[in-house]
Amino acid sequence: MSAKPIRDSYLPYGRQWIDEEDIQSVLNVLKGDYLTTGPAVGEFEKAIASYVGAKYAVAFSNGTAALHGACFAAGIGEGDEVITTPMTFAASSNCVLYQGGNPVFADIDPKTYNIDPRKVEELINENTKAIIPVHFTGQPADIDEVHQLAKNHNLVVIEDAAHALGATYKGKKIGSLSDMTMFSFHPVKHITSGEGGVITTNNEKYYQKLLQFRSHGITREPDKLIENHGPWYYEMQFLGFNCRMTDIQAALGTSQLKKIDNFVDLRKKYVSTYNEAFKEIDEIQTPYQDKNGISSWHLYIIRLDLAKLSVSRKEIFEALVNENIGVNVHYIPVHLLPYYSQLGYQRGICPGAEKLYEEIITLPLFPAMTEEDVTDVIAAVNKVINTYRK
Ligand SMILES: *Cc1c(COP(=O)(O)O)cnc(C)c1O
Repeated sequence: MSAKPIRDSYLPYGRQWIDEEDIQSVLNVLKGDYLTTGPAVGEFEKAIASYVGAKYAVAFSNGTAALHGACFAAGIGEGDEVITTPMTFAASSNCVLYQGGNPVFADIDPKTYNIDPRKVEELINENTKAIIPVHFTGQPADIDEVHQLAKNHNLVVIEDAAHALGATYKGKKIGSLSDMTMFSFHPVKHITSGEGGVITTNNEKYYQKLLQFRSHGITREPDKLIENHGPWYYEMQFLGFNCRMTDIQAALGTSQLKKIDNFVDLRKKYVSTYNEAFKEIDEIQTPYQDKNGISSWHLYIIRLDLAKLSVSRKEIFEALVNENIGVNVHYIPVHLLPYYSQLGYQRGICPGAEKLYEEIITLPLFPAMTEEDVTDVIAAVNKVINTYRK
């Protein structure tokens, strides 16, 4: 390949978009009375709940802590099984381990790459307590089918919607459909608070538990106290954690949320450009979209037809990096990670996800990228595929 890369500067696969308004809202908090657990957290929670159409939202220091809280609130404990997908970030199943439960991995649907409800059903037994579907890349999982299984077997559903802020399922926003839903505000996600996460729910019991969980298991609510020694009095009623969001984070989150519709629209626009550009390239499969949902496009993943290429995914990946295109791979199936192997999870339990892993590359996609950036990515993909076409 010619030595001159398509781009002079490196284009990351994802990154935040912070404007002056965001900076000002953080400055306002820094100049005010509260840095943490002040009014900004409550405002952010209200704004998120209202955006997704849920009754309650509880903010956490990050999305992983939020998932941990959700597993706690769902009552996951020693010996309980929770079914999730292997095609996700480790946090989706680590939260089950934190609670002493056992994650069980159900293979993916080969078309959508989301958890396959038929595979979930095969794995349900008397120890199963919950399902954690992940809306992989922002495309909603088969929520209705997951809910049907949950109803039949009395299971809690916690959606990992870290990729899906702004996505809809059958016309409804992700965030109010299941027992609990988690969103993450890590800088590569749709909006950011630096680090941050939230659980949205319509269930008051879960809501109360989540509030208490993120603050050591402590409550000051008079009607929840066993005793009451006076106005200073609080009770620690279970072993919680400190995983509170700061007002600094929350102010940034609230400011970012105002821009979510534009952010998602830009992602959709760049995706159409990619789809159009790649549709005639036989060696590339563009992302299939199920008709029941509208993706919020956290990630754009191409699948390579390796039979038509002279090299493996690794060489294609490296060639794109040499063009200064910040590609990535989402994800290494969780059950193949060394810690999970040590726990006894074996290669072969999710052949669909394992095969997919060998063939995928994530291309840059984020609202702050320009049309020229998109054009560069397309040019680089064309160059690399043309070089390695059989
Ligand atoms: C980002 C992410 C998380 C964890 O969120 P953090 O805020 O980084 O802790 C969990 N699940 C998935 C699928 C994610 O992409």
